Amino acid sequence: MHKLVRLDHAHVWHPFTQMRDWLRREPIVITSGQGAVLRDMRGREYLDANSSIWTNLHGHNHPKLNAALKRQLGKIAHSSALGFANEPASGLAAELVKLANPKRSASSPRRLQKVFFSDDGSTAMEVALKLAYEFTRRTRGPKTKPRFLSLAGAYHGDTVGAVSLGHIDLFHKAYGGLLFKTDQVMSPYCYRCPFNRAKPERADARKTRKCNWECVGKVEAKCAAARKQGNPYAAFVFEPLMQGAAGMIPQPEGWLKRVTDIARGHGALLVADEVMTGFGRTGSVFASQTESVQPDFLALAKGLTGGYLPMAATLTTQRVFDAFLGEYEEFKTFFHGHSYTGNQLGAAAGLASLELLARSTSVAARATLEKALRRELKSLWSLSNVGDVRQVGLVAGVELVRDWRTREPFALAERAGIRVCEAMARRGVLTRPIGNVVVLMPPYCTTTAQVKRMAGALYEAVEEVLGG
Ligand code: PMP
Repeated sequence: MHKLVRLDHAHVWHPFTQMRDWLRREPIVITSGQGAVLRDMRGREYLDANSSIWTNLHGHNHPKLNAALKRQLGKIAHSSALGFANEPASGLAAELVKLANPKRSASSPRRLQKVFFSDDGSTAMEVALKLAYEFTRRTRGPKTKPRFLSLAGAYHGDTVGAVSLGHIDLFHKAYGGLLFKTDQVMSPYCYRCPFNRAKPERADARKTRKCNWECVGKVEAKCAAARKQGNPYAAFVFEPLMQGAAGMIPQPEGWLKRVTDIARGHGALLVADEVMTGFGRTGSVFASQTESVQPDFLALAKGLTGGYLPMAATLTTQRVFDAFLGEYEEFKTFFHGHSYTGNQLGAAAGLASLELLARSTSVAARATLEKALRRELKSLWSLSNVGDVRQVGLVAGVELVRDWRTREPFALAERAGIRVCEAMARRGVLTRPIGNVVVLMPPYCTTTAQVKRMAGALYEAVEEVLGG
């Protein structure tokens, strides 16, 4: 057994992994990367088809990001934001504020003006949750018990607060006793629309009817009921345009604007979780902007550092910030923070990544990549085990089913998604499924030929593992 495998098997416990399965085989041990390519300890090359769990933007080993980090390393790697300011964190905060308010004047109350840094998507959401909670108590009165509404299938991270906002039984049920209760409302999962209203992407055996936005009506009903009970929702929490870990569920055009207007109309703050959708993944810099939705909280992580370092940010308004101002002895302080908050290396990578993101070459590359992905994924429709192919910008999910006519899902225990991804890995393409949904989310530097290889590997893997 290779020394690196021995070491891993002896000591490392991997996330979201059945370790008995893991220990049965030799893992792929990544030793280097270049652009969209990852290399393992045996010298084999793979395409990074999910951007290293949705983090990488511009490719691995990027000269500009490397140079920015080296420059910063020549000064300092880290000093604490508890008590001290630092140059790259302040610069990054200013850039994020600019990006988050493309057309908003400095005096607009909706302007996202303040940035709270943390470490990852879960903590970015935890910060939004705590701020929304405390802001609500301070504005509605200390006796208020703030309530939260999020979407069915939601995933917002693995810390206890973020898990409370989530609604994936498989991940979250075990911790029920640790969690606080939040409400859920149906998400617009058109492919499995319970009202049978979905527009089918291809003719099938199910009769579908015209969509009357029944799912939007559900949000209205929930918000109205909470208000009638005298305790309107403190916040509505959502991933804009595409719900990621729920199974790559895209929202039909207009849904986001409608539901956020409704939630806000009933007094709720808006918490946009753009941990996955942020930084151009869905087309615009932030997905909320596509439908002109300005949230009160914007949670960012994953791509914030171009996929180099763990760093996150929660943006909010001056109004929320002001609610935490007071004399020291009033103890209105936001009592939250992490050792690595505002880390200089992460911030330097973030600044360099944002500069790359704004370049016209990157904008053009993303447009080409989006088209290539759409074109290459078309061939998958001919497979009888492919039920749905969903793409928003540079994010795609392919739902595997027993038979596309009936849409019958595979039981999770059959590991259909996992087995297909293993067969893709044997063909040199790495990604990870969400249940029966295979994700393709390539880094922005991925070439058209590489996209073709990713889609080709998926096609062959479905044929090999599921028979068609
Ligand atoms: N929110 C969303 C939408 C996510 O996709 C994820 C991670 N997949 C998280 C939050 C949690 O982020 P992290 O894993 O960095 O804690």
